Amino acid sequence: MMITDPEGHIVRINREFLVLIGGTEAFWLGHSMDELLTPASRIFSQTHLFPTLHHAKSAREVFLHLRGVGGETVPVMVNAVSKRLETGDHIVWAFFVARERSRFEGELIKARAEAQGLAQRLAASNEQVELQNRQLSELSLSDPLTGLKNRRALELTVQEWQRTASRQSSVSLLMVDVDYFKRINDAHGHPEGDRVLVNFARQLQAGARGSDLVARYGGEEFVLWLPDADAEAAARIAERVHKCARRVRSLAGPVTVSVGLACAVHQTGADFLARLLKRSDEAVYRAKALGRNCTVVSD
Ligand code: GH3
Ligand code: MG
Ligand code: MG
Repeated sequence: MMITDPEGHIVRINREFLVLIGGTEAFWLGHSMDELLTPASRIFSQTHLFPTLHHAKSAREVFLHLRGVGGETVPVMVNAVSKRLETGDHIVWAFFVARERSRFEGELIKARAEAQGLAQRLAASNEQVELQNRQLSELSLSDPLTGLKNRRALELTVQEWQRTASRQSSVSLLMVDVDYFKRINDAHGHPEGDRVLVNFARQLQAGARGSDLVARYGGEEFVLWLPDADAEAAARIAERVHKCARRVRSLAGPVTVSVGLACAVHQTGADFLARLLKRSDEAVYRAKALGRNCTVVSD
């Protein structure tokens, strides 16, 4: 306990408080209580505590730091009240050592910092997972050799088109099969065959419109999905596909392809793609029978 005048000059100090701050009561008499406080607490006391006391006449549970007897900082909780005693106006101060509260606060601050760190790491790893998911789904829709879309991507694209295209929309599908491809492998090795496939895929992709889908459907079979292309437009695109094949350089000489073309108008139903593929596949078969290096249009 301590009593000061309204400006904070010490008038009385009890024995328990002297244990905390050191010295004798006679020594402290007349000193400002500012001398008991750490610099930060002194500022707080002057700007907040004393104005509150003058105005409200009391202050409760104010947290301050004292300079202890050995120079160490002692956290204390302070209640203070302005009182008129026989000797005039005074402030009566009660200090409670609050090391526990200080420790809890420290732990709380540490825990909050750790939680923030954890949240940041979590956000970063979520981003990582999202990126990996995007990469995975990209991989699961691509052909690893040529980088073209795969059969699964074709299925998804067709389903999306069935859902969103208008009833009058037309579409064409080209099935493209490399002629005598086995001979390239047999004569020049599998890597040369691969090189031909990659080269041809690149040419096909370069000539495609944004809405077209170019997919590697099987070994040396490719599919072009051509929304809004009627039979005439699809036939022109088939001609371009033959040109693409001719541009492929191969150790085996000129590369040619057989193309089967099937057109349809918009339809719903799960077997829509399967029926188009069957028709275009039959057309390829007929193109092979006609001597290869040509396009056959399915009826
Ligand atoms: P056709 O004109 O009748 O289509 O004759 P083809 O030789 O092209 O057809 P066939 O179906 O007899 O042979 C296709 C070959 O393609 C057989 C297979 O070994 C080869 N092949 C399939 N996938 C790959 C691949 O990824 N790389 C390579 N180099 N060859 C492949
Ligand atoms: Mg084939
Ligand atoms: Mg073939």
